[in-house]
Amino acid sequence: MKPKDPDCIFCKIVDGEIPSAKVYESDSVLAFLDIAPVNQGHALVLPKGHYPTMMDIPSELGVELMEALSKVGKAVMEATGADGLNLMQNNYEAAGQLVHHVHFHLIPRHSDDGLKL
Ligand code: 5GP
Ligand code: ZN
Repeated sequence: MKPKDPDCIFCKIVDGEIPSAKVYESDSVLAFLDIAPVNQGHALVLPKGHYPTMMDIPSELGVELMEALSKVGKAVMEATGADGLNLMQNNYEAAGQLVHHVHFHLIPRHSDDGLKL
């Protein structure tokens, strides 16, 4: 049984209670487009189980998460014709974490997009 928090918005997305634009799914990992993208193709990759921060992820999930990051990273770069890609990840409020279900931001970048992250 995967850990779950009934009040967590990402657990609700994993369970299909809240819709999302899914871009990748495996047994233990889900990726969908961010509802407030900082750039076109901004995607979130997360374990389906509820782990609050990066430091709580069981090591056996690491390979599957890394595979997902690689596949989704390539896909969003191709789909947007990006020149680059940022991988970002926030832990705890002090570092800007708003949703306390660990997730990785993949943000396609263009040389001239002027974004300051
Ligand atoms: P954090 O600041 O926790 O690293 O990022 C949370 C991200 O989740 C934000 O970029 C925010 O736009 C995104 N987000 C919050 N609620 C939803 C939602 O209901 N659906 C989707 N697709 N993204 C969400
Ligand atoms: Zn959750």
